[in-house]
Amino acid sequence: MFSDKINELFTAQLLEWELAKVNYSQLDRVKTKILDFGDFEILVQFNPERMRSSAAKVDSKSIGERPCFLCKVNRPPEQQGAAFEDEFIVLVNPFPIFNRHLTIPSDLHTDQRIRNNLGKMLSLAEAMPGYVIFYNGPECGASAPDHLHFQAGNKGFMPVERDFSAGKHTMLLSSKPGVQIWQWTGYLRSIITLEGSDKEKLVSVFNHFFYRFSILQPMKPEPMLNILAYHSQEGWVIHLIPRKLHRPSQFFAEADDQILLSPASVDLGGVIITPREEDFNRISQDDVADIFRQVCLEETLLHDLFREII
Ligand SMILES: [Zn+2]
Repeated sequence: MFSDKINELFTAQLLEWELAKVNYSQLDRVKTKILDFGDFEILVQFNPERMRSSAAKVDSKSIGERPCFLCKVNRPPEQQGAAFEDEFIVLVNPFPIFNRHLTIPSDLHTDQRIRNNLGKMLSLAEAMPGYVIFYNGPECGASAPDHLHFQAGNKGFMPVERDFSAGKHTMLLSSKPGVQIWQWTGYLRSIITLEGSDKEKLVSVFNHFFYRFSILQPMKPEPMLNILAYHSQEGWVIHLIPRKLHRPSQFFAEADDQILLSPASVDLGGVIITPREEDFNRISQDDVADIFRQVCLEETLLHDLFREII
């Protein structure tokens, strides 16, 4: 099974690759705190190794001037991988947030786009049932917007998974054989979740949504999206988190007002990563609510968007 290959890859890389070995062993010691919002929680993780990702310059000039770290020629020689369907390669991420954290670049240096690639994301989720696969759009979290890639982290870490199972914040918008559509409410960030066993129908619903959403953001290379997807015997769960802003005002503030937080899939999945300790200590429930409100699409707008589709 493909999962066995991934386990073997992890074992080998943590033995042979010093950077990965050190960073995964230090992960046990990262500081975490819980922000309690009543019937759900958000975790905050102080993780200094993520600075390069949180503060990454992703403007086209900076991207054009650096060697692409996802292309094979530029990857560290110690970094080994497991090929997936001759199109992607699964790599151990040497700067982990999760106990098991993977980066999954395309074999080709081609732009980060989800259009025509959601099906591949679902195939990855099916082949790796122990993992949540996630996608950060080119203008909302991807630190390599010029190289198509996904990431994956072990299941059971992000609160959004158990909050979806608990069902306290979701309402059913539509139910058809093979596809159910849920909208989240009262959860600080507006999310639409597609759930079902029919891959083609799931992709078709996504394509409709993608088309509608792209009309709202005509100047973007693609509408801003973070996506989390996982698979079990019942089928797929796909959390779609539409965005309206890359980085909140706190990111650009100065001195004590600054919080260096650049939200992407994992943050919106309920694990906020702060690369600086002062931000970890300072960040409050109000800050998180304010940051999520700035970067996520309004609940009513998302509701209207899906009303047009179903
Ligand atoms: Zn590349």
